[in-house]
Amino acid sequence: METQLDPLKDDLPLMANTSHMLVKHYVLDLDVDFKSQVIEGVIVLFLETGSRHRRTSSTDKEGCQSQFDETCKIRASEPCHIPVSNASVCSSKVEYNDFAVSGKGEKDTSDKNGNHSNEEQASGISSSKNCCDIESHGNKDFLLVLDCCDLSVLKVEEVDVAAVLDIEKFSMSAKLTDVSKEVEKNLRDQIVHELVTLPSHRWQEQLCYYTRCSQAPGCGELLFTTGTWSLEIRKSGVQSPADFPHAIRIWYKTKPEGRSVTWTTDQSGRPCVYTMGSPINNRALFPCQEPPIALSTWQASVRTAANFVVLMSGENSAKPVQFQEGIMSWYYYVTMPMPASTFTIAVGCWQEVKKQCFTAAVQTENEFSLPFSQADFRWHEEGCGHVDYPCRYQNPAATLQRVIPYRVFAPRCLMECCEEHLLQLIPQCLSAAYSTLGTHPFSRLDVLIVPSNFSSLGMASPHIIFLSQSVLPGGSHLCGTRLCHEIAHAWFGLAIGARDWTEEWISEGFATFLEDVFWARAQQLSHDEVKVQQELKALLRWRRLRDEVQNSEEELQVLRPHKESTGEVSESGASIVKHGLNAEKIFMQVHYLKGYFLLRSLARTLGETSYLASLRKFVHKFHGQLVLSQDFLSMLLEDIPEQKKSGLTVESIFQNWLDTSGIPKHCAFELQVTKWIRANQRIRKSGKKKRKQDEVVFQKV
Ligand SMILES: [Zn+2]
Repeated sequence: METQLDPLKDDLPLMANTSHMLVKHYVLDLDVDFKSQVIEGVIVLFLETGSRHRRTSSTDKEGCQSQFDETCKIRASEPCHIPVSNASVCSSKVEYNDFAVSGKGEKDTSDKNGNHSNEEQASGISSSKNCCDIESHGNKDFLLVLDCCDLSVLKVEEVDVAAVLDIEKFSMSAKLTDVSKEVEKNLRDQIVHELVTLPSHRWQEQLCYYTRCSQAPGCGELLFTTGTWSLEIRKSGVQSPADFPHAIRIWYKTKPEGRSVTWTTDQSGRPCVYTMGSPINNRALFPCQEPPIALSTWQASVRTAANFVVLMSGENSAKPVQFQEGIMSWYYYVTMPMPASTFTIAVGCWQEVKKQCFTAAVQTENEFSLPFSQADFRWHEEGCGHVDYPCRYQNPAATLQRVIPYRVFAPRCLMECCEEHLLQLIPQCLSAAYSTLGTHPFSRLDVLIVPSNFSSLGMASPHIIFLSQSVLPGGSHLCGTRLCHEIAHAWFGLAIGARDWTEEWISEGFATFLEDVFWARAQQLSHDEVKVQQELKALLRWRRLRDEVQNSEEELQVLRPHKESTGEVSESGASIVKHGLNAEKIFMQVHYLKGYFLLRSLARTLGETSYLASLRKFVHKFHGQLVLSQDFLSMLLEDIPEQKKSGLTVESIFQNWLDTSGIPKHCAFELQVTKWIRANQRIRKSGKKKRKQDEVVFQKV
């Protein structure tokens, strides 16, 4: 695939050469300064060599590898070296990181460059912008390419993980006593390899050693250069990914104009900063591998003034600890590998909304649950299909949890409104989602009412949902449906990601379809009420889709723009996201609506009960993984009995729905709409006033 970019086009480049090396874990150590509107700090990347580039020859290297394999087998049954109770002690050590201090020490010399662009930061080595396959161009140094823009990179170095005190307790490789330079280098790589491949039951020990390794001294600066979209790192004389350092530390700071975060004030007039869902994702927040294939875990320590709250994609509900007078530090982590683009942070003077005097109306098991069929349990017995991580689907207690722990944060002036309209809806919606799809993929949830400059109604990230203040007034309907939509993204969009970002419909179509299902269950409506409500919403969506299709570029209406080459990347792993930076596309709803109508028509073919059973099977099979459209469609069609299928194939769905612009010609929806309008006119005559009120609310959807 061609990765040269036409600057006049609106495509988004994914530059990282993930086929050569993959980031497995990020350790972020950041200071948030509201005066200068800069986030500054250190990031440590733990890398694995890409599968095609692993060492295969050289006898001593093989010896090392086989010893490592032995180590793995022995260690799997060993007790954890680090007692569980020590994990948090270990974690909090990151606050006293010497390197963060030395990073600050450089501030004076680097400040004069503070406003320079990436290009001007280049450190004097020859630039090779937009060139991802440098390795194949001859006998040159290997380049590690990271996605990055609007960042001031100050320094890059290799981390001497072998220098971590008592690392030999953890790593058998570290017991080697030979001290030649080559062996030292291999030793460091072996330690990182053992660390990133630790079995999931040792996740606490793993996090602890990630922290300690991230604080280890450096062992040599690395050369780097920055381009418009990338940070390229090389080590002089190193020509292959296998020989490249596997733990690297980058000192950097963000720029106030960087597009990953927005610095603004909340509704109470107090300063805040948050990741607002930029098309460039997090590449102006930290250097990373953006392609979704680079699934990684992360941990982050964030320091800021004591009156601020730091919320983040993390599975722990962080409690602040004092770093120094007036500065608090917040520590979060995740153990489920996810694309770096899903990392989300929000720092502001928000307050937690707590219930004062109402009793949460969460349904009990018996009232509410729709028992899963016997067929559901057959595939439950199969293991997970993803890489090893501490998965909730394998944890019996987690699989029974209808409502995960949740918190709500809001600016002071909206606290009362949130308590009244939002707080009691959350357990209802979470419970409805559980009764539809089963196990919650994430262990907890924070909901934040974001500042008024937020450009959409909601955004879902791991462990955190952003909601616009616009959903708060107007009764529970708007707030409830939006909450259900964002909760649905925990499964579709987060636990199951799109392998190709242009197939956005997989997350948005499903979330739009499921918000109706969840919301109907959350309200405990009768079958007839559900039908009327869902038909009405379908009608409004149909009109919106029809208008959009008539008034937008045809190319932007295609849900699978890469067609048969979807998911393909260049030899290095780089690719481009078609129209990823198109301003018009960002506000289009065609992916939501056309995706929704496809799923709705499939539900009608299959019948709702067996359709929802298929969705549960799909999330069980594909959670923790990336999918393409065909993964879902093939699985679904397998479950449809022949007589119902009537010519429905993956190819026909591509042809009619996903690979073409416009709306499928034979979609019988228009007919049903007319029928609905006629039926509705009769109802209106009897209850005109009530219906009018409802319609006002629906118009806003
Ligand atoms: Zn799993």
